[in-house]
Amino acid sequence: MAKEDAEPRMGRPRSQRFNSLFSEDEFGDDHPDAPPANGGSSWSDKDTSLHPPVPDAFSGSSPGTLSDSMEGTSATSPLSPTIKAGWLDKNPPQGSYIYQKRWVKLDADYLRYFDSEKDTYSKRLIPVSSISRVSSIGDQKFEVVTNNRNFVFRAENDADRKEWIRSLQQIAEERKSKAPERTLMSLAADSATELADKSGFLELRGFKHKLFVVVVGDKVFLYKNAEDYQQKIGITYIEMNVGNVKEVDRRGFDLTTPYRIFSFCADSEQEKEEWVEAMQQSITEALSNSEVAERIWAVESNRFCADCGSPKPDWASINLCVVICKRCAGEHRGLGPGITKVRSLKMDRKVWTEELIELFQKFGNMMANEFWAANVPPSEAISPTSSSQERRRFVIAKYREGKYRHYHPLFGNQEELDRALCAAVTTSDLAETQALLFCGASVTCDTRDPQCPTPLALAERSGQRLQMEFLLHNKTSEPPRLERMCSEEKPYSVHLPSITHSGFLYKTPSMVKPISERKGPEEFSRRWCTLQDGVLSYYENDRNTVPNGEIRVEEIVCLVNNPAHAHGIENTFEVYTEADRLYLFGLESSDSAREWLKSIAKSFVHPRAEELLALDFERLGRLHYKGGLTLERAQEGWFALVGSTLHVCSEDGRRQEPLQLRKLQELSIQGDHEVLVLVERRRTLYIQGERKLDFLGWVHAIQKAAGSSGDTLSEQQMTESDVPLLVDRCIDYITQCGLTSEGIYRKSGQNSRTTSLLEMLQRDARRVCLKEGEHQVDDVANTLKRFFRDLGDGLFTRRWASEWLWATTLEDEETKVGKYQQLLAALPPVNRATLKALINHLFRVQCFSGENQMSTHNLAIVFGPTLFQTDGKDYKAGRVVEDLISHYVEIFNVNDQEMKKQQDEITAIMKMREASSSGTQQAGDFICTVYLEEKKTETEQHVKIPATMTAEELIFEILDRRKIAVKEKDYWSCFEVNEREEAERPLHYSEKVLPILHCLGTESYLVVKKQVSMENMLIYLASRVGDCKHGMMKFREERNLLGLGLSTGFHDRYFILNHSWLRLYKEVRSHKPEKEWPVRNLKVYLGIKKKLRAPTCWGFTVFYENEKHEKQQWYLCCDTQADMREWFATFLQVQNGGALWPSERPKMRVVRPQQDARLGNISLIPLRGNESEMRNSVAAFATDPLTLLRNV
Ligand SMILES: [Zn+2]
Repeated sequence: MAKEDAEPRMGRPRSQRFNSLFSEDEFGDDHPDAPPANGGSSWSDKDTSLHPPVPDAFSGSSPGTLSDSMEGTSATSPLSPTIKAGWLDKNPPQGSYIYQKRWVKLDADYLRYFDSEKDTYSKRLIPVSSISRVSSIGDQKFEVVTNNRNFVFRAENDADRKEWIRSLQQIAEERKSKAPERTLMSLAADSATELADKSGFLELRGFKHKLFVVVVGDKVFLYKNAEDYQQKIGITYIEMNVGNVKEVDRRGFDLTTPYRIFSFCADSEQEKEEWVEAMQQSITEALSNSEVAERIWAVESNRFCADCGSPKPDWASINLCVVICKRCAGEHRGLGPGITKVRSLKMDRKVWTEELIELFQKFGNMMANEFWAANVPPSEAISPTSSSQERRRFVIAKYREGKYRHYHPLFGNQEELDRALCAAVTTSDLAETQALLFCGASVTCDTRDPQCPTPLALAERSGQRLQMEFLLHNKTSEPPRLERMCSEEKPYSVHLPSITHSGFLYKTPSMVKPISERKGPEEFSRRWCTLQDGVLSYYENDRNTVPNGEIRVEEIVCLVNNPAHAHGIENTFEVYTEADRLYLFGLESSDSAREWLKSIAKSFVHPRAEELLALDFERLGRLHYKGGLTLERAQEGWFALVGSTLHVCSEDGRRQEPLQLRKLQELSIQGDHEVLVLVERRRTLYIQGERKLDFLGWVHAIQKAAGSSGDTLSEQQMTESDVPLLVDRCIDYITQCGLTSEGIYRKSGQNSRTTSLLEMLQRDARRVCLKEGEHQVDDVANTLKRFFRDLGDGLFTRRWASEWLWATTLEDEETKVGKYQQLLAALPPVNRATLKALINHLFRVQCFSGENQMSTHNLAIVFGPTLFQTDGKDYKAGRVVEDLISHYVEIFNVNDQEMKKQQDEITAIMKMREASSSGTQQAGDFICTVYLEEKKTETEQHVKIPATMTAEELIFEILDRRKIAVKEKDYWSCFEVNEREEAERPLHYSEKVLPILHCLGTESYLVVKKQVSMENMLIYLASRVGDCKHGMMKFREERNLLGLGLSTGFHDRYFILNHSWLRLYKEVRSHKPEKEWPVRNLKVYLGIKKKLRAPTCWGFTVFYENEKHEKQQWYLCCDTQADMREWFATFLQVQNGGALWPSERPKMRVVRPQQDARLGNISLIPLRGNESEMRNSVAAFATDPLTLLRNV
């Protein structure tokens, strides 16, 4: 029971009443800080002498007049006119008998009482929404009951009391019945914690205790303390349309109104600044023009935020045509203007043209949501009280990913979409235009109408003003796409350095397609160009003041320095913009061209990437990419291409190690020309094609830079170890297939085949996969020789070749070897590495001279003249090669380990080949031991695992070998067993085996056995509704990695698993997850090691690895086996995107497609290559050689 209910006890003379800010209900007697003498705390402004004079803006009106206009205060908020006002006696506070006379006022939002009718600021504020009951309690009294407190008033007479009760009940009733609208309203009005712009404690001059102050929208609320704030019982609020904020000293500031000056003092200077800013913002909001808002709100659906339903949303996305609240607007801004262009209904007055307002009235939230929010699962919808994290997630899903969209029937068919758009814009059907545009139709598509080349022009011709307006605002909109980058920080929001430059440039008309032909000088026009204030403008001449056109530097996405003479003007450069336009500029003087380039580069490149400006780039720009440790989301990076090196500056400004494009292992385009994949040994970079034009340019430039550029060694595509890829490929092939081939390197092979192979390899060795059967050993050998013979500058270089030859004349072997070492050190690194690779190879070849007849001497006869590019009449060249092979270990300083490793590899290759005396075996597969049913020596199977092999294929391979017939409902699966963890994981049938082998630890192995719970899992999945699962499980961390403060042991937690997240809640009713993990980063194993003493035997061991490669391990335990099956089935289904089992198992093994070129050259190294296992593998092949080759 609240204090106020206390019956009167002690008299207290009326005269002692003091004008405390606080309701004396609470503070009366024990409040020495607010003695009557200190009138400074007076609410009514009669005591102005104690306050600084009111600011000029208000001085024209006497306080008295203004006080009289108290009603006018509420009049400024037209939604809350006074419903009833009058004098009432307020129940005395604790320790007092005397009723206090109060001026009580009721409006639609609040019941307030004041010291007098002249006061502007109340002593107490009770939101109508929190009134739960009003009833009479005798003696002309009535009681206003809220959730936590009761307020008792006494009326003059019965009639008056009746009237008050009736009004209060009615308004409270209305408030309730108008739900949800009113509920939402009251949420806003009550300034629930979540909706506050700023809240916290502030000292207010004249009072001992700090007040809890809350800035929300256009009002500042004062509460006695935080508890009152939670209970929504306030002191008063200040309408900021009459406010003015002034900083006073380090921590102090004044909020001045015509009725009173509030002198606040914050805890720190920084706090003060935040408060001042929040209050100034509040004033701006209060003063802003609400005319636009009122007109747009005239449409019912626009009165509530399109995303969360908050009332009176005063922001909008002008391209999406939705009206949104301030908090959602903040999240919209995070998506970037490519997706949503956020404007204020009240502040951005200029943007609100008559057309745009009309568009919002016609269109508005209803039509927008019919499209954007057609399929919002209730679990993902947000409300006015949602946290900003929830909002962000929702807004991203809704607009960036288009997850809840109503898909247009033509979705996916670009041509049809574009054609439909051209038709729709000529009608008044805005909904159709919306659906087409945001399902992928291109706003700049070709209409095939020369008079009206764009949809915008078509709309104009048809007089569709609103269509035009809609198209205009979506000129640069990007259609929703999953996996889009997260543009929390877009470059346009960054203050770029202001660069100024001007001069005459030659310019062609801007283009929307890549330049495919040389532009003649006649195609360029001379224009006066200026780069100023972030705008590159071009004018007819230097006397004109109105530019012919402009490019805003923040829209520039790429700058290209063309090679000289690329076009009719000697020096040219290209500028690409966000709107997919290409501008070609030219200059005769290369110095001036360079100056322009540098100036433009400086003006548009983000300061965090400014290091790139120092480079002599051919191409510079920003692109979205994923790479390295952040594959979860794309980020924006700055790229500069210099020669064959690609420099990258990441989002956070870190300069990454440049990519050596010639050393890429893979360079490919994925999707429909959407992603450029660059694979280096240590990393993979996915560059996303956001815009067509500049992306195409990058693709071509990178492809070109990644290829060979000439006939010298260093101009070739390279391996990581600086050996030309071409040389590496040939050597690898001969090693795998030709070591025992008779006369290898002596026989010449077929000339035409050699020529075409060399040409292919020189063009792009990365894409050439040498295969036995397809390529002849002698052709490949000949190709390698031809490459060295024609090599520009030769392997030994022109400069040093004669020295090498001369060294052969040295008599003393030791001196000679020393000289060779010296000469070797003098060679360029690439030559040195290549020579080593080649001699190493020849050393291997001569080891098999018994079979191939190629002794060191024979090899030297062939390679001497080849490498020295001589006619071979003189044996000196051969001598060098012979010496190099003979002294290979010394000259190249090869250690024992290296020798042993190579020896092992070659032994393995030879044994494999012996075992498979014929056939077309592919080079480079792993051999792995797989067990059947359990791990025992007798059940071992040795299988070659090609890169493309799936778990299903592996299972059939094993079953075939053992001639095991597969019966229906035999769910044979391949399990990855982790012995250390005592857990196992069935591979999904479509999972590739090779990557799993790569990560198998030494305590892990693969076993093929029946999965007994599969049938039950399939039945469960088939019978349930939806794709989520939730429920209790027992949870235990491996140590305290998650920082959840759990001790060891298993604890009950509530889990929700949906299509993308596993969330952990402290309990069923918890609001927020304590922890969440993206499901696809989880590896779920059945079983928990015994040592942990899991409460039941039905548990999982879960591994999680985030983008930073941080690992976590934890355990889940279910109460029943069925529960465990259901969770596991859900995990499997979510992780594999659907089917757990192939709907139809093939009767025969699938014919495997050609081996993945990407992994084609993985060397043949047995996975766990100890000797006995090697022997076992070979034995297995020997006993059943066909199994090895059956499916190749
Ligand atoms: Zn909202």
